[in-house]
Amino acid sequence: MFAVFARWFDNARSEALIGAAESPGGGERLDWSRFAPFLLLHAACLAVIWVGVSPVAVAVCAGSYLLRMFAITAFYHRYFSHRTFRTSRPMQFVFALLGASATQRGPLWWAAHHRQHHRHADRPGDPHRPADGFLHAHVGWFLKDRNFATDRARVRDWLKFPELVWLDRFDVLVPVVYAAGMFALGAWLGARYPGLDTSGGQMLVWGYFVSTVLLTHATLLVNSVAHLWGARRFATADDSRNNPLVALLTLGEGWHNNHHRYPGSARQGFYWWQPDPSWWGLRLLAAAGLVWDLRGVPAPVLAEGRGRATEAGRWTEAGE
Ligand SMILES: [Zn+2]
Ligand SMILES: [Zn+2]
Repeated sequence: MFAVFARWFDNARSEALIGAAESPGGGERLDWSRFAPFLLLHAACLAVIWVGVSPVAVAVCAGSYLLRMFAITAFYHRYFSHRTFRTSRPMQFVFALLGASATQRGPLWWAAHHRQHHRHADRPGDPHRPADGFLHAHVGWFLKDRNFATDRARVRDWLKFPELVWLDRFDVLVPVVYAAGMFALGAWLGARYPGLDTSGGQMLVWGYFVSTVLLTHATLLVNSVAHLWGARRFATADDSRNNPLVALLTLGEGWHNNHHRYPGSARQGFYWWQPDPSWWGLRLLAAAGLVWDLRGVPAPVLAEGRGRATEAGRWTEAGE
């Protein structure tokens, strides 16, 4: 039992085990010590039956969703995976901590798998292509042995930061502290302001469990739905789509066909009619001096998307 818990907290133990076991079943096996916590995350939402609901709990649930969705899109995706802007080392760590609170593993694991997705998008080697089944593309891929470890060769640029390597190894710590913080917030609000009608348990369930399940599935829609349904403004070599509903739920990540066309941009809604709140947030952080060198979309790519590209003006760089 201790071994399971130790493995749960320390990814180095699991990675060693997977390596030693020579990936039974080609790494397609579901790891129950990982699958069980994922199921429990969902089951815990049923506790709303006992803890009830209050306006403040719903507001914190929404705020917790928005803050962590921004952390996933702006930091895990646009910074750690694609390096589309620059920041200081302390802010880089703060961004990594905020991203980790979303309970989507560590920043290096996330970036390594995402870079692999871009390299092989919708072809063999893509960790979550819908051609392998919708359920696999949505949730199955990260519950399987073969996608458990962080492929360090894909994130060599980050290995020189020991604080990031540490966070990636013990990636359960931040979500546990975040959930405990929600309980403490609810307990304090409940005792201090009885009129709010909240409690530690209620805030834990709404601010962490419900919010995290919604956040998880909204993020995963980018891998599943945004490679199946939506418009294709650019003729990319993959099946990526621009899906306005996914963009709305993910603060701009649903303009996924744009993103596959030019992943080097910090902006994913390329035109004024494609709202990209994560881009607006990054502009605010830039105005405050916390991030800089935000990379935009080259004019030839914008023209190509408007259907006005000439052969001479066609952008040929594939990007990463
Ligand atoms: Zn994609
Ligand atoms: Zn990407």
